[in-house]
Amino acid sequence: MAAYEYETHYYDAIVVGAGGAGLRATLGLAEQGLKTACISKVFPTRSHTVAAQGGIAASLGNMGPDSWQWHMYDTVKGSDWLGDMDAMEYLTREAPKAVYELEHYGVPFSRTEKGEIYQRPFGGHTTEFGEGPPVQRTCAAADRTGHAILHTLYGQSLKQQAEFYIEYFAMDLIMSEDGVCQGVIAWKLDDGTMHIFNAKTVVLATGGYGRAFFSATSAHTCTGDGGGMVARQGLPLQDMEFVQFHPTGIYGAGCLITEGARGEGGYLTNSEGERFMERYAPTYKDLASRDVVSRCMTMEIREGRGVGADGDHIHLHLNHLPKETLDLRLPGISESARIFAGVDLTKEPIPVLPTVHYNMGGIPTNYMGEVLNPTADNPDAIVPGLMAVGEAGCASVHGANRLGSNSLIDLVVFGRAAAIRAGEVVDRNASNPTLNQASVDYAFDRFDGLRHAKGETATADLRLEMQKAMQKDAAVFRTDKTLAEGVVAMEEIAGKMGDIKVTDRSLVWNSDLMETLELTNLMPNALATIVAAEARKESRGAHAHEDYPDRDDVNWRVHSLAVVDGAKTTLTTRPVHLDPLTTESEGGIDLKKIAPKARVY
Ligand SMILES: Cc1cc2nc3c(=O)[nH]c(=O)nc-3n(C[C@H](O)[C@H](O)[C@H](O)COP(=O)(O)OP(=O)(O)OC[C@H]3O[C@@H](n4cnc5c(N)ncnc54)[C@H](O)[C@@H]3O)c2cc1C
Repeated sequence: MAAYEYETHYYDAIVVGAGGAGLRATLGLAEQGLKTACISKVFPTRSHTVAAQGGIAASLGNMGPDSWQWHMYDTVKGSDWLGDMDAMEYLTREAPKAVYELEHYGVPFSRTEKGEIYQRPFGGHTTEFGEGPPVQRTCAAADRTGHAILHTLYGQSLKQQAEFYIEYFAMDLIMSEDGVCQGVIAWKLDDGTMHIFNAKTVVLATGGYGRAFFSATSAHTCTGDGGGMVARQGLPLQDMEFVQFHPTGIYGAGCLITEGARGEGGYLTNSEGERFMERYAPTYKDLASRDVVSRCMTMEIREGRGVGADGDHIHLHLNHLPKETLDLRLPGISESARIFAGVDLTKEPIPVLPTVHYNMGGIPTNYMGEVLNPTADNPDAIVPGLMAVGEAGCASVHGANRLGSNSLIDLVVFGRAAAIRAGEVVDRNASNPTLNQASVDYAFDRFDGLRHAKGETATADLRLEMQKAMQKDAAVFRTDKTLAEGVVAMEEIAGKMGDIKVTDRSLVWNSDLMETLELTNLMPNALATIVAAEARKESRGAHAHEDYPDRDDVNWRVHSLAVVDGAKTTLTTRPVHLDPLTTESEGGIDLKKIAPKARVY
């Protein structure tokens, strides 16, 4: 058994993660007088939420008529009828309140002439239950909404005396023998000390796992650590097959090139110089919808017409456009292309690739943020002491596909909901739990094993193998064949974890070891994604299956659950919640409006 000295900290509530979700939960917990700490592996305001530009959806109706029922309908339709109705009602009903709270906390929203919060249009957000014109529902602080939210919530959390443990890497959950969460174990990256956080409730807010793929718009820190911690306890991950892609991420770096580039006349070509989108989508060509363009690009690459030395990406041309257009309309893109692709876009095409943008799946929760561990007789059984919010969680409000600007609102609504729920269930006067020593030993043994790993496979090499396999086979474009190949490839890659090689044995700023811990978290997320995708024999939302092009509500309107143990994944299902929280007579939504139908825009 590995012997590490550690310091123990006692709290009512521990939040792991300081993005929008983690900070909103931290603030809500501290405001209620719960002794609260927030642990983050990066400085709070560097969490990926900082990169969100577009905005946050709420039916304030500042720019024209709107209602939470219309927002709910759009969210239900966006989810392709896989989201839980109670959670989607909660999200859209509470959204205006959550945004006004942010305003009062000090988020510097852009303003209308009348001084109200400015709202812009976003894809999929409509009026009159999809029958009316588009609505301006997305509240924005210029093009730095996430940045503004993070800074405001961090300041407010400090004001409420929440304590922060910054650059602490949470490694594993501590669970009692009968499955109650008792805290987390963390490694302090800058001095190598070990810390046990003993808590009456733990909130996981660790963000997405975009970095399981080769090309992702998300930060390098988005490694699905919460999902990994949960999977190691034998708990399930939900709806992992649903991964949202954006067609034009810069090859290698993954930074986003906005759709506006094609809007201004940019076009895509393959290795033969062909404008292939004309073949697939004769009318809209390069401006067909995001998932269509992403699928066509992937098809070209798979059929051997990709560009570059490895034939694994596509060219985006803007070099035919007048310099004035580029300077006036796309100054940011010119800069991104120069910095991240090293190209002068007035002369050369930009190398691009469909790029992972968001993970709809995650740790299953109810609409109060409590983590679920479904049993045979109770599909909604909870894990006492454990909550999950933000992109790490799956409430599920995005179902099979997320609408733009619905993630930031998810962060604050469910961060707040988890804090409210914890305020109800945590007994402030009770003593902290007596920790299960076996669970503590497991975590230290695992850490020590990785620290001294003497195999043949370097972490960076195995990570790249995983990322390439996921990019190729858990892609936008899926067939029985590619998914089956992907499962075989990923199981083999996961099997190599036993042969990992860590060269640095120190405890201070050991990035080799930290990246290895992250890889042990990426791996179960990746496996759950490919195995659940292989099993789902239909097309729904982001899961576009060539061999089963239609949605199948009879057999597949269910959440998938994946329990990952090493390289082995076991799948089960959980029913979708079909009932909203309120009925029409109580001011709720008309059930007929949210009955399944074809998803066409
Ligand atoms: C480029 C980009 C633009 C986007 N634009 C929009 C938009 O305009 N509107 C919208 O609604 N959505 C947008 N999204 C999606 C949205 O921003 C994210 O889904 C959301 O910010 C995720 O927030 P989070 O709080 O769940 O996690 P994150 O912001 O990713 O934060 C995760 C936190 O967990 C911590 N953490 C993780 N693992 C550990 C560990 N092991 N130990 C300790 N701490 C850990 C990290 O330090 C960090 O603080 C965008 C996403 C991207 C990538």
